[in-house]
Amino acid sequence: MIIKSIELQNFRNYDSLKMDLDEKTNILYGDNAQGKTNILEALYLSGTTKSHKGSKDRELIKFENDEAHIRCIVEKAGMDYRIDMHLRKNKSKGIAINGIPIKKAAELFGILNIIFFSPEDLDIIKRGPSERRRFTDLELCQLDKIYLHNLTNYNKVLNQRNKLLKSMYYEPQLEDTLSIWDMQLVAYSKEIIRRRKDFMEELNEIASGVHEKLSGGRETLEVKYEPNVEKDQMEEKLAEALERDKRQKMTSVGPHRDDICFLANGIDIRKFGSQGQQRTSALSLKLAEIELVRRRIQDMPVLLLDDVLSELDSNRQNYLLNTIGELQTVITCTGLDEFINNRFEINKIYKIVNGSISQSN
Ligand code: ATP
Ligand code: MG
Repeated sequence: MIIKSIELQNFRNYDSLKMDLDEKTNILYGDNAQGKTNILEALYLSGTTKSHKGSKDRELIKFENDEAHIRCIVEKAGMDYRIDMHLRKNKSKGIAINGIPIKKAAELFGILNIIFFSPEDLDIIKRGPSERRRFTDLELCQLDKIYLHNLTNYNKVLNQRNKLLKSMYYEPQLEDTLSIWDMQLVAYSKEIIRRRKDFMEELNEIASGVHEKLSGGRETLEVKYEPNVEKDQMEEKLAEALERDKRQKMTSVGPHRDDICFLANGIDIRKFGSQGQQRTSALSLKLAEIELVRRRIQDMPVLLLDDVLSELDSNRQNYLLNTIGELQTVITCTGLDEFINNRFEINKIYKIVNGSISQSN
């Protein structure tokens, strides 16, 4: 799949923009705060309906406007898809595919698979568990509609259960209704845990191979799923935790507390890794993600690299650029210097200045 073009209206710092993309490497360069990341954000939205930063719709609309539009043309398996997105200040967004409105975000998934790679991804190992769950969820939701369904419902039920735990503090008789939520929580969590486990096993297999090459054979990497509760123990653990949950007025067990463990040469580098070990392992993880998506969708995802090249030494830069190979890639950077030493073909170069673009070659 490739993105052929993107059009923006009143999106972030753009009044209006139309940009054609090359099917291989596209570079967006310009000074800070000119609008490079904003374009990547719009592309990511077109594939996933969500901002990579988790921004709300109304934050995406240009200041002092009430609505914004994104139009993205995607080619997949020889067919063109026109994805239109209408962002509104106080309503949920409208999405249409080839002019036909869709009701659920999930209907969009599968047309455009996007991998977003930003400097924050390189810090995923030293950051908290919620960041690592977010990584898993963002990818799995794109790949697996049933996962998305289960996760959405799990979060809804979890919310309700937590509300009930709060209300129970004043109205203890409400405890009778808790089991309704518990049953659902158990059912959804089983599906989530099972799918996360499969995902992590596949990711581990690929990442360990990548890491061996990246580290020149000096280090092994194991990526291990750390479920808060095993798939078949949720019911039991939930019951065990009831008194604590009542005291704390929130649910203390379940996949919303999962984590991923990273072992380099057998050592947990979340706690004991050097900065370099953590970043190289994060790069291995990200490269593995690209390969995993490729296998699962049997097509090429689109790769967005937001300012990551300047974060890597030339060895790792080269490794990343070689991996990109035939993927469609959009790269942002502040200068073109970093490409000069790379034998690397750039197909389209755009300069971004204060919300407008010009093509330069
Ligand atoms: P950097 O190199 O620092 O990463 P960038 O080119 O990636 O810069 P962006 O993150 O794309 O910059 O942001 C460009 C500008 O968009 C920022 O100055 C920001 O203030 C502005 N901006 C963000 N949201 C909105 C909005 N809703 N309306 C108008 N402008 C906005
Ligand atoms: Mg930026």
